[in-house]
Amino acid sequence: MAELGNPKNTIEILQKYDFRFQKKFGQNFLIDPRVLEKIVSAAQITKDDVVLEIGPGIGTMTQYLCESAGQVAAVEIDRNLIPILEDTLSAYDNVRIINEDILKTDLAALSQEYGGKAFKVVANLPYYITTPILMSLLEGHVPVKNITVMVQKEVADRMQIGPGRKDYGALSLGVQYYCEPYIVANVPPNCFMPRPKVGSAVIRLTLYEKPPVAVKDEKLMFTLIRASFNQRRKTLANGLYNSQELPYAKEEIAEAIAAAGLDAGVRGEALTLAQFAALADAFTERRG
Ligand code: SAM
Repeated sequence: MAELGNPKNTIEILQKYDFRFQKKFGQNFLIDPRVLEKIVSAAQITKDDVVLEIGPGIGTMTQYLCESAGQVAAVEIDRNLIPILEDTLSAYDNVRIINEDILKTDLAALSQEYGGKAFKVVANLPYYITTPILMSLLEGHVPVKNITVMVQKEVADRMQIGPGRKDYGALSLGVQYYCEPYIVANVPPNCFMPRPKVGSAVIRLTLYEKPPVAVKDEKLMFTLIRASFNQRRKTLANGLYNSQELPYAKEEIAEAIAAAGLDAGVRGEALTLAQFAALADAFTERRG
């Protein structure tokens, strides 16, 4: 039984081990069984799946995952949590606890240990590193089927919006190139211990087999995207010209913008993913 979903049991465990929350690790533990059930059900986990959990904390969600998945690999950075996890997960023989920083974990090697099977990733993410974790999962070419995560509400919103909105940016385009986002639920601060200062949301990202737009040079497209949003207030042409990462002369930029069918004075924040792809292709074609 996943008994940690009950807040009383969570408090008991924290007291038993005299656990001190570490702010620097973004520790806000989930204490609402309805939210835990919602996350696990949105992740569409079956006994066939290998689940990668990022930041298991005291193992609350891990217990639910162990019950629904074939195998669970749980990567936790805080070594003070390891003896607690060994205790709370002692009833399950399908879980492996890995005491590492997820950003330094070799996930390709880890997936090989499970026969190269694509992971379903589930996490109540540490908010201080949401974007690097997600982008490394998406760009890292690690086999992943879907990613169901708790994030700050405004970050979840940013992942699914299009041009013309204030928060539209590199994260929106990065996420939408690789996957289809779906907001599962909004989650208020009182579902966590301690309570975060911001609202949260669960979002599921289902990875595309093939991106929704075709582009010849994916890396160049993302460099163009970053350059455009680094200088939001400038025109696209100026943003690209001022970027240290791009080698293009003013005339070359003007030609590529025209070749992509865009107005000379357009701002980067107005471009859709398909338009950034067309722009990247225009540069690639010009340079051969
Ligand atoms: N999953 C637990 C829950 O829902 O109650 C805990 C979630 S808490 C928001 C984030 C967890 O991620 C903490 O346990 C924290 O120690 C861990 N964490 C923070 N940074 C990490 C990193 N770089 N690699 C792995 N785990 C990390």
